[in-house]
Amino acid sequence: MAGFRSLARRVRDPRLVAAERRTSLRRCLEHFAPYGHRATWHHLCVRHGMSPHDRHPRPDQLLAAIEELEEARRVWQVYEARFADRRKREKRDGVRKPTPMDDWHRRTWGGFGVAWCEDPARHPDDRLADVLRRLTTALDSGPGDGCPVCASPRVVWHDDLGHEPASGPVCATCGILVPPPALSQRALARALTGGGEPDGVPGQRAGERRAGASGRGGRAGDAGRALVDSAGRTHHAEQALRNQHA
Ligand SMILES: [Zn+2]
Repeated sequence: MAGFRSLARRVRDPRLVAAERRTSLRRCLEHFAPYGHRATWHHLCVRHGMSPHDRHPRPDQLLAAIEELEEARRVWQVYEARFADRRKREKRDGVRKPTPMDDWHRRTWGGFGVAWCEDPARHPDDRLADVLRRLTTALDSGPGDGCPVCASPRVVWHDDLGHEPASGPVCATCGILVPPPALSQRALARALTGGGEPDGVPGQRAGERRAGASGRGGRAGDAGRALVDSAGRTHHAEQALRNQHA
């Protein structure tokens, strides 16, 4: 399989027809696609004025798209190199126990689906490199209370994602699947009970509506109460909270 860099050269090659250059751009997404293949393609098309189904985009559109993708890839590679160095140091110092962050990195290494967007047409609007800078800053800083990309507190747990794993916290504002290690225990518990405002807004949580619980809540104790109606959800909820303290 051709590598990212040789495919990027083909996107820039003026000797190739537009359809071949476009195909090479799409194949770059097999190597690096922060939102997943379809959503990243949709993002590049929207940002650079291409129709997702137009087989003959203009060369300037293709060039702008590959530049955006390469810039984002450099941001991600710098972050991954930093993460790998840190793990190497920890191993040398005897800290060998794998963490939830290690597990997440193992599944997303190289930058595929690091901010997975389930709906290809729903993703952050900003330049990819800016989104990844915010994400990597958040991952470096430890668990937070909201979406690491748009800072929204509206993060809701989903169980039916076309993604491995199929469960996880999704930002209801920008659409990304938030890396679970980037969320605090409190934010995860809130997501598991259906999201909502940080201090609790009565009657607005999906989990409460499903479980018929009363309006108070948004804390870990409520998560347990609200989740008894679904065995799968309970399983994933417990695992997520357990991982948070692993
Ligand atoms: Zn968001």
